[in-house]
Amino acid sequence: MSNFAAPSAPFAPAIASASFVPSAVAVASVASAPRAPAPRAPALARRSIQDLPDELISQIAAGEVVERPASVVRELVDNALDAGASEITVRLLAGGVRLISVEDNGCGIPPEELPVALRRHATSKIRDLQELEGVATMGFRGEALAAIASVSQTSILSRTADGDSAWLLDARSGELRRAARAQGTTLEVKELFFSTPARRKFLKTDATELAHCVESLRRHALARPDVGFALWHEGKLQAQWRCLPADTAPAQALARRLADVLGAAFVENSLPFERHSADLGGITVYGRAGLPDAARPRADQQYSYVNGRYVRDKVISHAAKAAYEDVLHGHKQPIYALYIEVDPLRVDANVHPTKIEVRFRDSRAIHQAIKHAMEDALAAPRAQALAATAAAVDATTDAALTTVTAATPSAAWQPQRQQMPMPLGAAAPLSAQQLSQLWQPLRDKAPAPEQVQEAPLPFTPAIAPAIPATPAPAASAASHEAWPLGRAVAQIHGVYILAENAQGLVIVDMHAAHERIVYERLKTQLGQNQPISSQPLLIPATFAATPLEVATAEAHHASLQQLGLEIAPLSPHTLAIRAVPAVLAQGDATALARQVLAELQQHEASALVDRARDDILASMACHGAVRANRRLSLEEMNALLRQMEHTQRSDQCNHGRPTWRQLDMNALDALFLRGR
Ligand code: ADP
Ligand code: MG
Repeated sequence: MSNFAAPSAPFAPAIASASFVPSAVAVASVASAPRAPAPRAPALARRSIQDLPDELISQIAAGEVVERPASVVRELVDNALDAGASEITVRLLAGGVRLISVEDNGCGIPPEELPVALRRHATSKIRDLQELEGVATMGFRGEALAAIASVSQTSILSRTADGDSAWLLDARSGELRRAARAQGTTLEVKELFFSTPARRKFLKTDATELAHCVESLRRHALARPDVGFALWHEGKLQAQWRCLPADTAPAQALARRLADVLGAAFVENSLPFERHSADLGGITVYGRAGLPDAARPRADQQYSYVNGRYVRDKVISHAAKAAYEDVLHGHKQPIYALYIEVDPLRVDANVHPTKIEVRFRDSRAIHQAIKHAMEDALAAPRAQALAATAAAVDATTDAALTTVTAATPSAAWQPQRQQMPMPLGAAAPLSAQQLSQLWQPLRDKAPAPEQVQEAPLPFTPAIAPAIPATPAPAASAASHEAWPLGRAVAQIHGVYILAENAQGLVIVDMHAAHERIVYERLKTQLGQNQPISSQPLLIPATFAATPLEVATAEAHHASLQQLGLEIAPLSPHTLAIRAVPAVLAQGDATALARQVLAELQQHEASALVDRARDDILASMACHGAVRANRRLSLEEMNALLRQMEHTQRSDQCNHGRPTWRQLDMNALDALFLRGR
């Protein structure tokens, strides 16, 4: 229903004339060509400078703070939260245009302060500049109630803990009288913009305004899982988000709230993260980061909070994007809920009238904290956590919480804090030696594997995935059942590996998975500031090169060495490859060399080479990864699965696509209509 379909009498003429006149003007100006110059306003006689009346000042301020009903909801709920409420109920009529009522069970306002609350620049939240700089409440500007009251019919009903009754103040008449109410406050805002029809006409349909109000309350609800919220529209309950008992673990309460507000899929498709750093008097970053698979075409599920306040901030969104750099490609937008707790003195909340923007004093540190927190969560291979989750679901009897626990085993919540031992059944990371043995040499030029010296896999405690302390009960029988990605059973068309694990069937894209493993290995080696370990070729591979290739090989000799390649000119038209990266020893050396030379040609200065390093490594990895149509033995397939379980970001290939999928027994049964 539109606000204007059946406008209440006083507004009808204003709206009708306002919408009619501009369109008439528009038609006239299009029709008359050439356009007549716009009529100039007649020069006004100079008027004296005067103070604006108070009411008008508030109405002007309302222009910034109160854009639509949803802004009123935001301000009133902010106030309720600042008052320490644990239950907040919002009631709306006509999308909030007719009525917005916000009821809380907070501390209340004593009767003598009720008129003060409505005054401009009157606040209980700060007293001086020092308090402004360290402000920790949602509000502090003392202008919301005054602004709202100036463009609506507002009343406040409130009772404090020690008040003998509640008091009702009508903002327009100033009448104050006793009324009935339990402790807390009810703010009623009726007929928004009734005194400023020009603004009222910018409002959209009731349905649209309602949607904005719901979104506004959602943002609050996501910030405060410890507070219960309800939203009624036209007497119907639109949304209700209850809080869990006070002793619920914060991570569980958050997961539950996210599932309630954003849907269970948000939690199922996201990973928890939490990171504390001691910098700047402590920065804590926590929340849930969506899996790369769950990314969306639009950035419509990105919620970020600073000290409980919903904000939109470039530093934050850039840091989050950077965290996905290596696992999400193209223009897809990740989903996340991100919470930053930082010393209030280090963040300026007073940069925007609606406080949706903040300014960090140390944006670099904030950027780093966010990026690392999310990156670490996304890097840990997920198969292990998934296996643990499945076991946890089997074990749990709390049916009410199943959907939440399923996605957030409490052990997985704290990847940084709890460093658990590896599961007994899991294979130790393979050495480079074993790896190169398993990837059978395609060529015989490579020397014996014993010569290969390489750092162990990048499996350090800091990035260890969360694994429950107790081994999964379901995975106790055979050791292979404890392997998160299971035991390889077959290869399909030289493309996919099939494996059996405790949950059912695992399907792996072997090229995609191997490509990631090789890429991560190369990155880790270079990241340790050593050259990539290379393997000399017993018989150098020579190839006919273009003069440009020869020149590039000479100019970038040092970079090539860093990349594990030893390439030297034999003649003006011939290059010889004497060594290749150990992990790529089985590939076609000439094709690899050509590929890398082509990449290097694009980056003349070595500084640029450094910046493009990951790209170069990715294309080397793609080149060196096992090709489709290679027959693998079961041993080789199992080796690949074990590698995946211990390689960061191995759930996505270098191009952001998934490397494996799980079909659990339920999914398989569904295929065959079993148990229906
Ligand atoms: P601000 O929130 O910036 O202080 P407001 O105009 O929103 O300014 O509110 C003015 C004052 O009214 C607040 O400082 C607070 O003391 C009081 N107040 C407003 N809403 C409530 C509420 N729901 N419960 C208790 N006190 C409230
Ligand atoms: Mg306020």
